[in-house]
Amino acid sequence: MEKREHDLVVIGAGPGGYVAAIRAAQLGMDVACTEKYERLGGTCLNVGCIPSKALLESSERYQEAAAGMDGHGVVIEGVRLDLAAMMKRKETIIANLTKGVAFLFKKNKVSRYVGKARLTGDRAVVVKGETPVEIRARNIIIASGSVASTIPGVDFDGDLIGTSTEALSYSSVPKRLVVIGAGVIGLELGSVWNRLGSDVTVVEYMDRVLPEMDAEISRHAHRLLRRQKINFLLGARVTGAGTSDNECVVEIEGRDPLRADRVLVATGRSPRTEGLGLDEAGVELTDNGRIKVDDNFATSVPGVFAIGDVIGGAMLAHKASDEGVACVERLAGRKGHLDYGVIPSVVYTRPEIASVGSTEGRLEEEAIPFKKGVFSFKGNGRAMAHGLNDGLVKVLAHRETGALLGVHVIGPWAGELIAQAAVAMGGGMTAAQLAGICAAHPTLSEVMKEAALDVDGKAIHA
Ligand code: FAD
Ligand code: NAD
Repeated sequence: MEKREHDLVVIGAGPGGYVAAIRAAQLGMDVACTEKYERLGGTCLNVGCIPSKALLESSERYQEAAAGMDGHGVVIEGVRLDLAAMMKRKETIIANLTKGVAFLFKKNKVSRYVGKARLTGDRAVVVKGETPVEIRARNIIIASGSVASTIPGVDFDGDLIGTSTEALSYSSVPKRLVVIGAGVIGLELGSVWNRLGSDVTVVEYMDRVLPEMDAEISRHAHRLLRRQKINFLLGARVTGAGTSDNECVVEIEGRDPLRADRVLVATGRSPRTEGLGLDEAGVELTDNGRIKVDDNFATSVPGVFAIGDVIGGAMLAHKASDEGVACVERLAGRKGHLDYGVIPSVVYTRPEIASVGSTEGRLEEEAIPFKKGVFSFKGNGRAMAHGLNDGLVKVLAHRETGALLGVHVIGPWAGELIAQAAVAMGGGMTAAQLAGICAAHPTLSEVMKEAALDVDGKAIHA
């Protein structure tokens, strides 16, 4: 078998792995990145963040053109959907971005190996590509990501009953779509197909949508999405699903089964640990199957590190990337800063939903004294001009010190607005300091400022 040596081998070229590889190369390491697919970018670029956002944007344009512009005095007739063109646009975006990562690898002299990698022993991996290669390295980073979770009794046929990967590429609009899980994927992809004309029913085990989010925000989301004619069955546990005569039947505990043309299972993701030789190498896992790491991303085996979806914490692309950077910077003897308390998360529905820091529920659970400020987009001039004035900003601050503890937004461009809250929290600001920053007029940022002012009862337009 061919043998190679590098300073660092990264397994997986998702946003965790490829960013770690590039940063390590910038820091002067001789880096190899092994990816089992020809295309770089992992879940995020190929079957995750990017294709879903491309379809969310296109489906929003379609819906707006078909139904939403009359109020602006723009009358459009004869709107029709060209789903194949919409999918082609999505594929072009993916191709451009994945080629961009390949270009960055070349530019930074990261060596690429195509094939499935497996730990083989002391600081070595074997890559089973066209010709197997053994790579020895001082350090190895596992960034193998995650796969869609399955649920018992659900008969995935990879076509009518499938995961987000299938739902990103349906060749026609299903008349009836059942989505299992009202988490992020369920609501984003449920929105896409609802906008394109499907009759969408989302079945959720918990008693609210987005159960991880702040309860007040999740109630708002539920109301606004119902208004868009997405149906919800909450507190409903799916126990099985199968197909018969080209129709899907979804079994729900204590309720009548649902019938649909397609089923999207969006019940979470599981770490991808199979086939990596972890057991033989002695890499320990946590009780929920993620790779166990310490504060420096070190696994139980010296010289082997892990980052991204395969370790604990939120399964988010930016969290994976920041872990990749922090991990290699620490390997290079630098500080490698990462503040887990300030990782924003965004749900790209209409309106968007975004948060950073603690929810009200969590603060109550942890008995942290807090005060809150809330301000609606209703009276905001820019939101009115956009015709998007549903939603609110909620700022949570420590009752005594005023330190920002959490910010939650549901409303237009929430995903962009949350960045200012993250900057303020990351910089250790108080709600009063956030409120003291001048916001341009008319902008959506004025709502953030008013919510921060409201923490001390000082909002102007309340
Ligand atoms: P991955 O991106 O999963 O990459 C791991 C890579 O490792 C893969 O390319 C895989 O092929 C490779 N690999 C695995 N095992 C081996 C092996 N043995 N040898 C070689 N290669 C291997 N997150 C966001 O922050 N924002 C979003 O908007 C967002 N939208 C999403 C939408 C969908 C539909 C999905 C499914 C996910 C979304 N996510 C989003 C989550 C995001 O995609 C993940 O958190 C992110 O991709 C994790 O990065 P990673 O590098 O840890 O793993
Ligand atoms: P999720 O954990 O967000 O939601 C899964 C939902 O399914 C939960 O609400 C859960 O209660 C429900 N559920 C589980 N079993 C069920 C059953 N038997 N019957 C009914 N409901 C059931 O998971 P997801 O939406 O699949 O997303 C996976 C990961 O991908 C998430 O961790 C998320 O962070 C990431 N992601 C992020 C984004 C984004 O940042 N915009 C977008 C998509 C995905």
